[in-house]
Parts: sequence; structure tokens; C-alpha cells
Amino acid sequence: MKEKILLIEDEKPIRKMLSINLESEGYTVLEADSGKEGVQVCARNLPDLVLLDLMLPDMQGQEVLRMLREFTVVPVIVLSAVSSEKSKIELLDRGADDYLTKPFSPGELLARVRVGLRHAQSSKTESVLEAGPIRLDPSDRTVQIRGNQIHLTPTEFAILALLLQYAGKTVTREILIQTIWGSNENETGSLRVHINQLRKKIETSAAMPELILNEPGVGYRLAV
Ligand code: CA
Repeated sequence: MKEKILLIEDEKPIRKMLSINLESEGYTVLEADSGKEGVQVCARNLPDLVLLDLMLPDMQGQEVLRMLREFTVVPVIVLSAVSSEKSKIELLDRGADDYLTKPFSPGELLARVRVGLRHAQSSKTESVLEAGPIRLDPSDRTVQIRGNQIHLTPTEFAILALLLQYAGKTVTREILIQTIWGSNENETGSLRVHINQLRKKIETSAAMPELILNEPGVGYRLAV
């Protein structure tokens, strides 16, 4: 299977150049031209690696990184024109895996991408999320409930992964909406629909959920 790389970069010529280089190496490239879209595409498509430009029109790359780290351990390589040691360390502290200073050669980029993907491969066995009767394996995107495999849409998968990551704790509607859709507006209804669909698939009785509980006015909690 082709590895998927998400490219979050607003400058079209750079995006095009990177995309051509990555595709020539056999990767599938997903593109986003804003931070908001990047978070959204990441939550929906669960790429194998993210290339993140720091200077985006709608938000700072640092903020995008923080949002990504709320729901994914995907390797993130930051692309930036700033080369100061301080900002580099700060980004690595915030969960970036690597850092490339512009301008960089395609060869340099591809080498870093290979390293990033290798890291992800070696940590995949640890990234299985398990709680109570639920087992979610991001490496092959499978979910088992009480030992039975079930099929989730990418959005349902992303919601369940987020709830599992914070199992036992309440995840606010805002965080869920932001990480799944990258927006705070008008998605409360969609979230409720997805949660209901997810309940039909994982609960013994969707009418009397015992796994995904409502925290009225706040959000949802995985009770395990
Ligand atoms: Ca930029």
C-alpha cells in the first residue's frame, strides 16, 4: 500500500514542487493550504506522515501541531524559513518529529521523510489503543469490540480514537469538532449524528449506551 503524506503548505509553487517529488517516489500526497484544512484532512485520512509549513494564512504552524497532537501520533516534519536553534527545540518539545529549514533540496526532504516513516513503523506496534472491550489498531485501521471486528467510517474511527486516547475522561464537544472538522461552527449536529452511528456499531444497545456516555453540556466520555 502506498504511504500517504499530508502536505500543509499555503504557497502553491512550493506545494506543487514538493508534491511532484513525493509522488515520484511513490507516495500518495494529500494537500491542504491552511491550518484548519490540514487538521481536518489529517483527522479524516490519517496520513502516515505530515509535512507542516510554519507560516500559514489562518494560524501558526505551532498551533496546528498542538491540534494534531491532540489526536494523533503521526510523524510531523516542520518546514520553516526560521533556522534558530531556539525555535527548533521549541517545536520538537511541542511534538514535531523533525525540522527542515527552507530552502532545502528534494533529496534532503525525501531522506527525512524516509526516516520519519521508519520511526512511525517501529512505533506502530505500541500505538494500539485498548480500553475495556475496545481495541483499535491504527496501523491497519481495524477496530474490535469484544473480539469482533467492526467497520467504521474514517470520521467514526477518528472520533473513537480520540475518545480512547482520553478513556475515562470527558472530551469536550469543541475538541472533538475541532480535531475532526477543524472548526467550531455548526458541527454539533453532525457530531451527534456520528456519535449515534458509532454507538450503533459498538454499544450492546445504542438506546442505552454504556461505553460512550453523554456529559450533558460538555461532551462525551468513554466509560471503560
Ligand atoms: Ca507559508
